[in-house]
Amino acid sequence: MLEFEIVKNANPMAEADRALAFQNLGFGTLFSDHMAVIHWSADKGWHSAQVTARAPFALDPASSVLHYAQEIFEGMKAYRATDGKVVLFRPDQNAKRFNASARRLAMPELPEEDFLAAIEKLVAVDRKWVPEGNGGSLYLRPFMFANESFLGVRPSKEYIFCVIASPVGPYFKGGAKPVKIWVSEDYTRAAVGGTGAAKCGGNYAASLVAQAEAGKNGCDQVLFLDAAERKWIEELGGMNIFFVFNDGSMVTPPLGTILPGITRNSVLTLAKDNNIAVEERPYAFEELQADVASGRLIEAFACGTAAVVAGIGELKHRNGSLTIGTGETGAVTTLLRNKLVGIQTQELADSHGWLHTIPVS
Ligand SMILES: *Cc1c(COP(=O)(O)O)cnc(C)c1O
Repeated sequence: MLEFEIVKNANPMAEADRALAFQNLGFGTLFSDHMAVIHWSADKGWHSAQVTARAPFALDPASSVLHYAQEIFEGMKAYRATDGKVVLFRPDQNAKRFNASARRLAMPELPEEDFLAAIEKLVAVDRKWVPEGNGGSLYLRPFMFANESFLGVRPSKEYIFCVIASPVGPYFKGGAKPVKIWVSEDYTRAAVGGTGAAKCGGNYAASLVAQAEAGKNGCDQVLFLDAAERKWIEELGGMNIFFVFNDGSMVTPPLGTILPGITRNSVLTLAKDNNIAVEERPYAFEELQADVASGRLIEAFACGTAAVVAGIGELKHRNGSLTIGTGETGAVTTLLRNKLVGIQTQELADSHGWLHTIPVS
């Protein structure tokens, strides 16, 4: 287990400035006073673990990440309850997935206990940066990038692991308003054998042109179909997707080329708790269109750490648009969202042991 050196920021943000900034939180624009950093090199392994003042990195222009995009990340949140207790939601799952991504990108794995310690120590030092209630939380962004000065194409011999923290409000500006989704028929996100199941920056780089197309068409997010047949629904640029039918059952695309979301996995468990049958199976866009026409499909929602659970009101595509159910956030979506948010905010019992308390240091 690594020892962390804690070096406090000599110029933290003034209380009054933070209080003012907290009155209007966006997503990922404001950052806390500190960051956690751990270095890896082929000869020393993981070393020099620190929580220190948040500051820029100095990178050599030949740093491998700038050329070959060997980079992975995670996204998780710390929530504060009314009694002041600060918790993380299933951080062990982020640690495991981070290492699965590392293996796929030929990067060194970080022992789960060190991943968790980096997050715990950062949140403990920046505890006052965790907003209270009103859908606010401290978004944590662990990431790792290759940092060897070398232009040859092979896995880097040096890496930097870092965690930064950003207090956030709700992800979609419209609040609980249902989101509009653009179905991309030109671009795909992931192919079998590719990096679809890894949380790597490159997947996002490749999705941005499709996301821009969604924006041009008045949509909030893009929905990708499979790369081989352009037939099967996969997921959004950064969220998984569920469909709810008029018999009370749900469908979600199976794991494989999609990102195995921790929210997706939690929704599957909460559905089971609430006697909602869920099939993890391929669901074709054509089948969806038929289910909208027949009235069988009554709700759809996107899920992920940033937005938690967001109702989908409309799907737009090249040849038209489809209203899902009433076009409003549906009852099953609302139920699952409330259950999940209730656990995260400690208003409902944590019967699955998903919460991890940050000790007061
Ligand atoms: C992170 C991510 C998700 C959601 O995962 P969570 O663990 O639920 O936050 C879904 N899809 C993609 C592409 C992602 O990067």
